[in-house]
Amino acid sequence: MPTVEQQEALRRLPAVHQLLDRKELSPYLKRLPREWVAQTVRDTLTMKRREILDNLSFREEITESALIAQAIKTLHHLTEPQLRPILNATGIVLHTNLGRAILSEDAVKAVHQVARSASNLEFQLHEGIRGSRYDHVEALLCRLTGAEAAMVVNNNAAAVFHILQTLTKGKDVILSRGQLVEIGGSFRISEIMQESGARLVEVGTTNKTRIQDYEQAVTSETGMVLKVHTSNFRIIGFTQEVPREALTALARNHGIPFYEDLGSGVLYDLKKHGIGKEPTVQECIQAGVDLLSFSGDKLLGGPQAGIIVGKKEWLDRLKKNQLTRSLRVDKFTLAALEATLRHYLNPKEAAQKIPTLRQILRKKTELQEAARQLAHTIQETTKEKLQIEMVSSHSEVGGGSMPEVELPTVCVAIRSHSIPVSQLVQRLRSAPKPVVGRTSQNWLLLDPRTLEENDFPTITESFRYALQT
Ligand SMILES: *Cc1c(COP(=O)(O)O)cnc(C)c1O
Repeated sequence: MPTVEQQEALRRLPAVHQLLDRKELSPYLKRLPREWVAQTVRDTLTMKRREILDNLSFREEITESALIAQAIKTLHHLTEPQLRPILNATGIVLHTNLGRAILSEDAVKAVHQVARSASNLEFQLHEGIRGSRYDHVEALLCRLTGAEAAMVVNNNAAAVFHILQTLTKGKDVILSRGQLVEIGGSFRISEIMQESGARLVEVGTTNKTRIQDYEQAVTSETGMVLKVHTSNFRIIGFTQEVPREALTALARNHGIPFYEDLGSGVLYDLKKHGIGKEPTVQECIQAGVDLLSFSGDKLLGGPQAGIIVGKKEWLDRLKKNQLTRSLRVDKFTLAALEATLRHYLNPKEAAQKIPTLRQILRKKTELQEAARQLAHTIQETTKEKLQIEMVSSHSEVGGGSMPEVELPTVCVAIRSHSIPVSQLVQRLRSAPKPVVGRTSQNWLLLDPRTLEENDFPTITESFRYALQT
C-alpha cells in the first residue's frame, strides 16, 4: 500500500495531455508522429510513478518542466544524430572505440562523389559489360605490395575466416602456441578456426617455437601453416620465433600455403623513422609469404576493410567461394580505399596526406609548439577557472598495433579549481562537440598529436560549456 505521502505525490503528477500541450514539445510534434511523442510522455510518467512508489523521488518537488526535460532527452535519441564527430585528444592515433583511422581529404572526397552519383562500381566502361567491384583496387594493391593478386572483404576478421574456411575446412592448420591470440572484442584465433571447420594444431610453447616443431607437425592432413601477428602484446625475454622465410620454404615443400595474418599491415616503412619494428607488407611478400591479410583502418589509414594479398592460385580460390558475397565491401569503402592506396604511390605524399601516418610521424618539437598554442587558447577564454600546465608524455599508435612503441609528446595538463577532474571529463564528453582526453592522477591531459590546429577553437568552446553547466 502506498503511504499517504506517496498517494499525494502520485495525484500531483500531470496528465499526459497536459504535458503534450506544453510549447517545449511543439517542435517534436511537428517532426514526429503524435503517438510517438505521447508514448514518450507516458513512459516518462510511468517511470516517475515507479520512482515515487520506490521512495526515490517524491520528496523533491516534481515540476512539469522537469518531466518535459526528461521526455525531451528521450526524444533527442530519435531526432538528433547519435553517431557524431568528437575530438580525440587521447593521443591514441588508432582508437578502436573512437572509430580508428580518420580518412584523408582525398578519400573523403572520393566517398562523397560515389555517394552522390551513379558509378561504374560493377561496370566496365570500355567494353560496356558487367565488371567486378574488386577490379578498382586490385591492380593498385598488387603494384604497391608486389603481390600477384588481391581482394578486399569487410574487415580483417572476415578475411581470416574466409581464408580458413575456403582453404582449410576439414584440414589441419599449424600455429605456434605463442600466436594463439585474442585480438579484442573476443575475437579469438582458436574460435574463428573452430567456426571455419579447420583443425588447430598447436606447436611449440608460449615463448619458444622452432622450425623442427612445425616440421614434426606436418602430416597428409595439413592444409596450411599459419602465422598470426601478436598485435596487442609482446613476449619478451627468453623467446624464439621462426623467420617467415623458413616457414615459406616448409610450406612450399609440402605444397600447402603459408598464410600470415598481419593485423595492422603497414605499407609505409615506419622502421626507417625509428618507429617500431614492423615489417612492411612489401617485405612479407618478398619473403615469399603465400597469403597475407590486414586491416584497412589500422596503420594503412583507410576505411574499415580486410585486405588479402598473395599468390594468384590461392586468391583465385578465395574469389570463387560463394561466401565472398556475404563479406563484400560497399562502394564507399572501395572509394575511400582506392584514394588512400593512391597516396602510397608516392610515400612522401602518403606521409603528409594520410592522417594516421601524419599523426604517428609528428615530432616532439612540433607537438610542443602545438601544446603551447592549445594551452594559450584555453587559458585565454577560461580566465582563472583552470590551472594549465605542459607536461612531457607519450602517445600511442593504438588499434592493437605496436604496443611497445611510445611516441614522445607534450600534453596540455588541466585541472579546475572548482570541480573534480572526473566531473570535468564527464562534462567535456557531454558538450555539443565532445572532447575525449586522458586522465593522470588529478589532471586531464590533452595530447595535441591526434588534434589539428583548427580543432583548438572548438575545444575551447567545449571547455566553456563544461565550466558553465
Ligand atoms: C586487428 C586484428 C584483426 C582484426 O582486424 P579487423 O579489421 O578489426 O577485423 C585480426 N588479426 C589481427 C592480428 C589483428 O591485429
